[in-house]
Amino acid sequence: MLEALERWLRLSAERIHDQSDALTALDRAIGDGDHGLNMDRGFAAITAQLDAGLPDGETDRVRAGAVLRTAGRTLISTVGGAAGPLYGTAFMRAGGAIAAADVDEDPAPVLLTALQAGIGGIVALGKATPGEKTMLDALIPAQTAGVAALDGGGTIEAVIRAVADAAEAGAVATIPLVATKGRASYLGERSIGHQDPGATSSALLLRTLADSVTTG
Ligand code: ADP
Ligand code: MG
Repeated sequence: MLEALERWLRLSAERIHDQSDALTALDRAIGDGDHGLNMDRGFAAITAQLDAGLPDGETDRVRAGAVLRTAGRTLISTVGGAAGPLYGTAFMRAGGAIAAADVDEDPAPVLLTALQAGIGGIVALGKATPGEKTMLDALIPAQTAGVAALDGGGTIEAVIRAVADAAEAGAVATIPLVATKGRASYLGERSIGHQDPGATSSALLLRTLADSVTTG
């Protein structure tokens, strides 16, 4: 899990860097045009931290939890905007869930518990509900799809692929929505017709997670 986590964070940093202009363009349409830049800055800082070495810990899960919590703190201090504290809190809570997971528990349920904990952090901080055109519109359907795949007996690869597919569909499904949270809500009905930048970055992160889990 520790290796997959490091692979995920590093590959996310690369892809966010590559997609930075596209994310920023989405945010220019319904926000202030900084989402890609913000995320790129945050993930570059996470990469720098990984380069400095992984923390010690009794088990790989405890170490993975610590990596994720540190990454969350880094996102809070470097990303700024709404997304920094939201993603940062999500990463910190997800890290806490991984560190607290039973050592015997399979990785797929641990992953879904971590995702659920992350979503809980975003909801607690941002007070958004589904359908308000935010990152939750990618993350909540992703979680639901992951649980369904797991209940259906899916392997970790199948579960996380279901998560990523649902997140991407959820991000696209934000296009016709009216934003009622965050900066995009200032536009009211004029936010219709644009894909939410935070939902898009969430889908990118979860697709990257699927790719990181399935490559080893
Ligand atoms: P800012 O809007 O402060 O410039 P960013 O551009 O980095 O911050 O991030 C904007 C994204 O944050 C939005 O696309 C949306 O997905 C997400 N967001 C904003 N407010 C909330 C909220 N209350 N709950 C969940 N997500 C939110
Ligand atoms: Mg913005």
